[in-house]
Amino acid sequence: MFKTNILIIGGGLAGLSAAKALEGKKDYIIAERENRPGGLAATVAKGGFHFDYSGHLLHLRWPKTSKFILGALAGNCARIKRDARVYAHKRWTPFPFQSNLAAMPPAVKSECVSGFLKAYNAGHTGPGDGSEVFSRWTRRVLGDGISKHFMLPYNAKLWQYPMERLTTEWCAPFVPMPKPEEVIKGAYGRANEGIGYNTVFHYPKRGGIGALANALAKKSRGLRLGLEVESLNLGKGTADIRYFGPVNFKRLINTMPLNELIAKAEDAPAAVRRAAASLRHNTVYVLNLGVKGAKSDMHWGYFPGEEFPFYRAGIATNFAKSLAPRGCASFYIEIATAGEALDLASAEAAVLKGLKACGLIKSQSQVVEKLWLKIPCAYVIYNRERAKALPVIFDWLKTKRAQSIGRYGAWKYSFMEESVKEGLEAAERLLVK
Ligand SMILES: Cc1cc2nc3c(=O)[nH]c(=O)nc-3n(C[C@H](O)[C@H](O)[C@H](O)COP(=O)(O)OP(=O)(O)OC[C@H]3O[C@@H](n4cnc5c(N)ncnc54)[C@H](O)[C@@H]3O)c2cc1C
Repeated sequence: MFKTNILIIGGGLAGLSAAKALEGKKDYIIAERENRPGGLAATVAKGGFHFDYSGHLLHLRWPKTSKFILGALAGNCARIKRDARVYAHKRWTPFPFQSNLAAMPPAVKSECVSGFLKAYNAGHTGPGDGSEVFSRWTRRVLGDGISKHFMLPYNAKLWQYPMERLTTEWCAPFVPMPKPEEVIKGAYGRANEGIGYNTVFHYPKRGGIGALANALAKKSRGLRLGLEVESLNLGKGTADIRYFGPVNFKRLINTMPLNELIAKAEDAPAAVRRAAASLRHNTVYVLNLGVKGAKSDMHWGYFPGEEFPFYRAGIATNFAKSLAPRGCASFYIEIATAGEALDLASAEAAVLKGLKACGLIKSQSQVVEKLWLKIPCAYVIYNRERAKALPVIFDWLKTKRAQSIGRYGAWKYSFMEESVKEGLEAAERLLVK
């Protein structure tokens, strides 16, 4: 039987970062199911375009991981000031909606401002403990108007889960919380664009976001592509890997979705299996389009309106021109489902209609390339079942000294930098032992 000290499941950013920290210090293998590294942070080349799995922008917050990421990219990286907008009531306004109401029709504006002030004056601005459901939370902290015109329709489209059951542990870093003076200034004065977690971002100058994973993968001696872990026994320290055979390992770092890990772990107790089976996620379909004759400077837009099938659309060539042949723009459009299959032909027709309606493409614009990418497990659902299930699962994994990390291994709403951080930290924990 093939033996390794550490088995890493998944060669996305979490797995590759763990490997980088282990390189030359402990032997490991990464079993990556696909024939390319990067997981969701990969880039697909087609017809002269480079398409990501929707916009994948680096929001760097921590010194150590920023240095690690920028070091790996070795100069192949631009720092860019965000131009994100919201399309609501047939007009564009800068993101975030709640502090940029100036462009809204007068009745909408006053409903949003008065609702916000009413919530604020009632002292209902605290973040809460995360167990409050989203429909209640957003009305409590942002008021009825902002909730009705943006927060509820946008989030219902994104999460594809009842807003009365979605809990709010994820909100604090992602939902910008303006002060009353910012809401008023944004409604009756100048735009407030520098608000929120992603006002500045980084992105590779060449090669799409996949350039980061490719740079990390190049130096990984233990990366094995095209190998899918089919089953495991955490107690025995064995895994069956398709096309490779059985592997014996001492320690495990998992980055595949947590529910799948438990389903594949033959020694998982019934209570752990039940907990894993209660976890929910949505599915996102990304339509990438190569377009001639489209012109807009913005990076991405949010679409709360039900007349649009997508919740977000962006123009990747506005963060790196090299992603498309000269004279073309590259668009990404994101549509979420609760897991059901999307009828791609009718979705595409509705997307083109929507892009024309909001002016992002013109009737004379020409689509010269397209690529649908499916993300089966895209956003994990925060609900009461998740809050109950995670401790049961992680307590059991701890008894097996197995670490499950990354956006899906840890089952959370997190970003690339956090996957990198968790990969480095998981490796460090093994190096000190
Ligand atoms: C629509 C969308 C937009 C996003 N936009 C951004 C953004 O702008 N900025 C940002 O920072 N983050 C963004 N993210 C989040 C980002 O994609 C993730 O945080 C990050 O890429 C996750 O890396 P990971 O290594 O944790 O997981 P993954 O990338 O999922 O890697 C896990 C790997 O495990 C492999 N695998 C799974 N099962 C098996 C198996 N049985 N055997 C072997 N291998 C297996 C998979 O093939 C995959 O390569 C976005 C996510 C989504 C869904």
